[in-house]
Amino acid sequence: MTAVAWIGLGRMGTRMARRIAAAGHSLTVWNRTPGRADALAAVGARVAPTPAAAVRDAEVVFLMLADPTALAGVVEGPAGVAAGLGKATTVIDMSTVGPAAVGRLAHVLPRSTTLLDAPVLGSLAEAEEGTLTILIGGPEPAVESMRTVLSLLGDPVHLGPSGSGAAAKLVANFALLGTVGLLGESLAVADGLSLPREVTWRLLAYTPLAAQAARRRTALEADDFPPRFPLSLARKDADLVVAGGVDARLARATLSWLTDAESAGLGDLDYTALLGHILRSPAGNHPGPDRAIPAADAPHHRWGSGCDGWRLVDSAGLSVIEESLPPGTVENRPAPDRSRQFIYVLDGEAAMRTADGEVALRAGSGVHVPPDTPHQIANPGRRKLRLLVVSTTSSCADRRPAGDPTDRTQRDA
Ligand code: NAP
Repeated sequence: MTAVAWIGLGRMGTRMARRIAAAGHSLTVWNRTPGRADALAAVGARVAPTPAAAVRDAEVVFLMLADPTALAGVVEGPAGVAAGLGKATTVIDMSTVGPAAVGRLAHVLPRSTTLLDAPVLGSLAEAEEGTLTILIGGPEPAVESMRTVLSLLGDPVHLGPSGSGAAAKLVANFALLGTVGLLGESLAVADGLSLPREVTWRLLAYTPLAAQAARRRTALEADDFPPRFPLSLARKDADLVVAGGVDARLARATLSWLTDAESAGLGDLDYTALLGHILRSPAGNHPGPDRAIPAADAPHHRWGSGCDGWRLVDSAGLSVIEESLPPGTVENRPAPDRSRQFIYVLDGEAAMRTADGEVALRAGSGVHVPPDTPHQIANPGRRKLRLLVVSTTSSCADRRPAGDPTDRTQRDA
């Protein structure tokens, strides 16, 4: 019987700690939200008042926390794990936090402590059944001495020195998240090319996306994404990949989709809700020229190529254009000629300046621009700013006089 402390009783931690208790080890637990420890107390675990108290007599300490901030908050400080470790103990960090956080953890733990980074592949079902794949970084002898207890949770795979497990987990999650993003965009591209969805599914079976397409189809068609691995945690992982400092453009694209989806309120859903988000997104949903508009609507609406993208013009001459501004852009716009405009922020942040002052706009808010009002729109944020511009004239030429240096139609040509 080993004296085990378990810190972090979220979705994964609760299921994993329960297996340690069921194997007969002496278990002490701590969780920030105390009520979440009740399930473990019911199977005989002691509930400690602080992380330091939880680890005081432990031989092995497991950490299963959301992100690097949670990890630092729980380990550091007078009531933290590091303050409570009194004797030679092995700390096994199973959180997905990346190698930088593991380096910081190694730095704050007492020298007598042995540290293994051991994040996991698999989700709630695998945690419950003890069939996770455990990606481990740290000294070989420590891995061997922990193999029995780790095997209660899954298959331990030793990958190299400290930080190797944390790094490997980021690579694995990038591959997974990028693939799901690519699947969503492939479906959106197929829609844009007017390929019937049934044909698209058949086609994808012949591509490298075959396995993911088959696996995600039912959830997507039911629009039902019960949370196993929440989208907010997936966004955190993509953030960690991008923060790695490599020119990982696909990772940045994946992160931008996940950030969009989280801003749209999908953070608590399963990360695969990203598929539905991409397909619902106006940017992922533009029909091709004219042919994607149902014939019955033709007298009332037509699509054409706008200043920056696709433009819907209705029979009253109302023009609706989606535009985007990269981070840091400041754009001077002339007065809407003979036109009233309404500028609505779809995503990101905008600063809108006129002679009367400045207003800050967030996603979901908008501002009315009267005729004869020159204005400036800036994107002060770190994400792409997406705007919907509704105006009472129907062409870009009306809205931006020819020859004006701020006319992006000309600049882009
Ligand atoms: P979760 O259900 O959100 O649990 C997160 C845990 O971290 C909870 O115990 C939470 O405490 C704690 N926590 C969060 N912020 C904190 C803070 N500032 N201070 C102290 N404690 C804090 O997440 P999970 O699904 O169990 O995932 C845990 C880790 O495993 C994450 O790194 C995740 O990326 C990784 N992972 C998850 C899955 C999955 O399918 N869910 C699969 C593989 C790996 P409270 O209860 O007080 O909120």
